[in-house]
Amino acid sequence: MASSRPVIAIVGRPNVGKSALFNNILGRRVSIVHEQSGVTRDRVAAPCEHFGQRFLLVDTGGLGIHSREKATDLFDGMIREQVAEVVAEASVLIWVLNCQDGITPQDQEVSDFLRRTGKPVVIAANKADNDMVRAEAEGAFAALGYEHIVPTSCTHRLGISDLVDRAMQLLPASDAAAEAPEERLQIAVVGRPNVGKSSLVNRLLGTNRVMVSDIPGTTRDAIEIPFSLTVDGTELPLTLIDTAGMRRKKQVDTVVEFFSLSRSEAAIRRCDIVLFMIDGTDPCTTQERRIGRVIVEARKPCVLLANKWDLVSAEGVKARDFQAQVRAEMSFMNHAPILLISALSGHNCQQIAAQLLHVREQMRVSVPTAVFNQFLQDTLARNPPPSNGLKRFKIFYGTMRGCPPPSFLLFVNKKSLCPRNYLQFLENQIRDAFYPEAGMPIFIDLRERE
Ligand code: GDP
Ligand code: GDP
Repeated sequence: MASSRPVIAIVGRPNVGKSALFNNILGRRVSIVHEQSGVTRDRVAAPCEHFGQRFLLVDTGGLGIHSREKATDLFDGMIREQVAEVVAEASVLIWVLNCQDGITPQDQEVSDFLRRTGKPVVIAANKADNDMVRAEAEGAFAALGYEHIVPTSCTHRLGISDLVDRAMQLLPASDAAAEAPEERLQIAVVGRPNVGKSSLVNRLLGTNRVMVSDIPGTTRDAIEIPFSLTVDGTELPLTLIDTAGMRRKKQVDTVVEFFSLSRSEAAIRRCDIVLFMIDGTDPCTTQERRIGRVIVEARKPCVLLANKWDLVSAEGVKARDFQAQVRAEMSFMNHAPILLISALSGHNCQQIAAQLLHVREQMRVSVPTAVFNQFLQDTLARNPPPSNGLKRFKIFYGTMRGCPPPSFLLFVNKKSLCPRNYLQFLENQIRDAFYPEAGMPIFIDLRERE
């Protein structure tokens, strides 16, 4: 399993401003990539990014909201266990304190608990709404003996970026190293003839282009070409699994290529990420459906590249309308992000590298069990499975098994009671919550437990 994205957990007693801080971090410096799903207040975890560093932010104050009336005691049985579990999986803790209350006995309890975990802690001395409180914030909490104290005001959006900076500095070196681009991802560029695959491949390879005969051990059917792309100065090492016909196109009979889906199929099965190219001027034919089916069946992360956008936009077609059309006609690919590009002019091609980097990061997200169960409870409460006759399908709890691809195990009352499409619905919800905009396949297994 690839190293996972570090977890940063927000902890603290009730009413200090944990949820306000969570939303502040999501809304400000940090960009959450998925806009459609909307960041709701009651979400407990969200993938975040702070100046290129990615992490999963968890608000432990949101745990157990279905098992209690109101946030009362952080250290109540179940909730305490859930918090402890998230804390155990976290790389850095942000401990929120209320400047206006000083140190309370409950804060002392939290302090003892946090110290026992041995995790790096940065204190958010929150509700430091004015200069006077801010100036005194550090001194007020110095007695707790923690080195990193950053005054914040969620109401006035002050100190938030400094706080996240500090948390980033405290990430253990092994986690920081996990962010380094050490793995070489295998990518496959697939699509029907003439959509522009060769044009794109040549553009991506650029001067790094390697002649087929120069690569030892290549077979006629699949050629692996190592190359790199750069994203904001970061090198992204990749291997292109080239299917014949892309680079030596002229020697290949298009009709033959048409029927040799098997070659693309082999590349799809072998790669880590599929770049599925479609022709913007004729985006959704039966061939796209065939290729799409292979990608979905192989459960590969996929990015849709709508090429020849130069021709499409010249006709006055709006990006939004075009995307809506593709979504409607290729619903089986709805989880895949779409980039509108021109391999000919290079328009938006830079985005491909950024998107690949994003997918790579998402492939590493592992969801703590407590967070996953909170998510399940929220989702089930909002959209309970429709009743199927007399008996209702029940999900007791779930856990993540591994990634990539992200796979989850759900303990249920009876598999046969699971309504049609409900698993698909859950998959989409999981994707939106934890793997936005990465075209990620999600595995869900059910196990019966009475
Ligand atoms: P949680 O229980 O720790 O998640 O706390 P909440 O985020 O729900 O906040 C508790 C209350 O404190 C809410 O009424 C917030 O509006 C308020 N609050 C949060 N941050 C600040 C702040 O920086 N200044 C002030 N004055 N109030 C805040
Ligand atoms: P392949 O069969 O998928 O490898 O497609 P090619 O790369 O050989 O491209 C097929 C044709 O489409 C060629 O004539 C390219 O010049 C043209 N083409 C490729 N990309 C673009 C593009 O972005 N815009 C336009 N207008 N033409 C393109």
